[in-house]
Amino acid sequence: MNFHPQILIDASYLLAAFLFIYGLKRMSSPVTARSGIVVAGWGMLIAVLASFLYVFSVEEAAKPHLVVNVVLAAVALLLGLGWAWRSGKKVEMTAMPQMVALYNGMGGGAAAAIAAVELLKPSAEYTLIPLVVTIIGALIGGISLSGSMIAWAKLDGRINGTWRIKGQQALNGVVFLATLALGLFIAFAEHGHAPVILTAAFFVGALIFGVLMTMPIGGADMPVVISLFNAFTGLAVGFEGFVLQNPALMIAGMVVGSAGTLLTLLMAKAMNRSVANVIFSNFGAAGDEQQGEIKGSMKPVDAGDAGINMRYASKVIIAPGYGLAVAQAQHKLYEFVKLLQDAGVEVKFAIHPVAGRMPGHMNVLLAEAGVPYDIIYDMEDINGEFKEADVAIVIGANDTVNPAARTNKSSPIYGMPILNVDQAKQVYVVKRGQGKGYSGVENELFFADNTNMVYGDAQKVMVAMTQAVKSLDGGGH
Ligand code: NDP
Repeated sequence: MNFHPQILIDASYLLAAFLFIYGLKRMSSPVTARSGIVVAGWGMLIAVLASFLYVFSVEEAAKPHLVVNVVLAAVALLLGLGWAWRSGKKVEMTAMPQMVALYNGMGGGAAAAIAAVELLKPSAEYTLIPLVVTIIGALIGGISLSGSMIAWAKLDGRINGTWRIKGQQALNGVVFLATLALGLFIAFAEHGHAPVILTAAFFVGALIFGVLMTMPIGGADMPVVISLFNAFTGLAVGFEGFVLQNPALMIAGMVVGSAGTLLTLLMAKAMNRSVANVIFSNFGAAGDEQQGEIKGSMKPVDAGDAGINMRYASKVIIAPGYGLAVAQAQHKLYEFVKLLQDAGVEVKFAIHPVAGRMPGHMNVLLAEAGVPYDIIYDMEDINGEFKEADVAIVIGANDTVNPAARTNKSSPIYGMPILNVDQAKQVYVVKRGQGKGYSGVENELFFADNTNMVYGDAQKVMVAMTQAVKSLDGGGH
């Protein structure tokens, strides 16, 4: 057969790279995000299939040897496909960050595995630059693998709390530097042909550092950490793509690396903290002792009464949070919103950048219920409007509306920008009981004079509010 597979492989990689970038571009708006995922998925499929064409480009003599590898790769792909298909179908929206953490870890692990294969090839001729790149990619990939596993276990509630010993940062520094030194020794002194035990020790060092780095970080910071590992994985994949001279890996790695870095910075900014502060401080593990005395009392109110009050308001702003996702109350909420709109009430949604458990969580949830985008506002665009609102209703949100972030310097969330719900004339807070927010701190908003608590599961509360307004409008005219 006189066919040049390399041309087809290169063309496929180019197409895949285009689809990755185009897909990412579409992910930048909630309107096109879903199709962006599908486009990037096609890119991935093309890249994977093109990699199999490699079989046709090797010399005849080497083919029998390759068959084993191809079968192994196919089996691994099928296993991965089956597992991802199943977990992707059944994962709850609220468990999405854990899943992302797992997938990140797998990407980092795959990059480290590529490096391991390269370093353990007995006959390979290495030049220094690819060798150093292989080592750095392996180090970052290994850290991302074990760090992501710890992040997954923490988010999934399999590891609770933080683990921190005296001199933790010094220990982390020593492990990191020792691993890096070992890697550079393998590259410079051994030219990539170090004894297997040294190479293995290098990988173990990277894995241990990933664990040590992630264990002390508090639960509330885990999504930022996951995003950071996402960036690491992208970098590692990009480096290994350079070593293999594989353009699809290089471009995918760069895209993931830069998107992950930007997302990490955005999330840190939304919490008004530096990435270094996220990694080296102990946010999210704070106890009550850090908080001052809160004055006032919590005043419960009936859901139906609160609903009717909103029916007669002229402007209502809704601040949704993680509890809305837990209760899956987005459909019932929108039903209630439509009733208010029919009664002439102006209704707007205020979205805090870290409401929920991942960036864009609330936007996805509201889009699922069909809420139109033009009544959904980002925090900075709506924060000035709360003082004109008759009612601000907080549904399953807590940290993102906690005024302590503005006023209480000793609070672990001090400095985080918040939604100014407390400035509305009347505030309703929908939550089940005395549960705290993700950061574990008490919320003085609940005790404020203009706040009333509407206790109950968000979905049940929305149903009660809807019924109250319907019975009023049904019987009142
Ligand atoms: P929080 O996690 O602060 O609070 C959620 C509230 O929802 C709880 O107080 C809980 O109270 C209530 N709740 C839980 N289940 C229900 C239910 N079924 N019905 C009604 N209420 C319910 O939510 P926020 O969205 O305000 O804040 C997000 C937190 O996550 C922030 O601390 C943020 O920093 C953190 N985070 C988010 C990231 C992101 O990307 N989105 C990234 C990093 C961190 P009760 O148990 O009493 O019902």
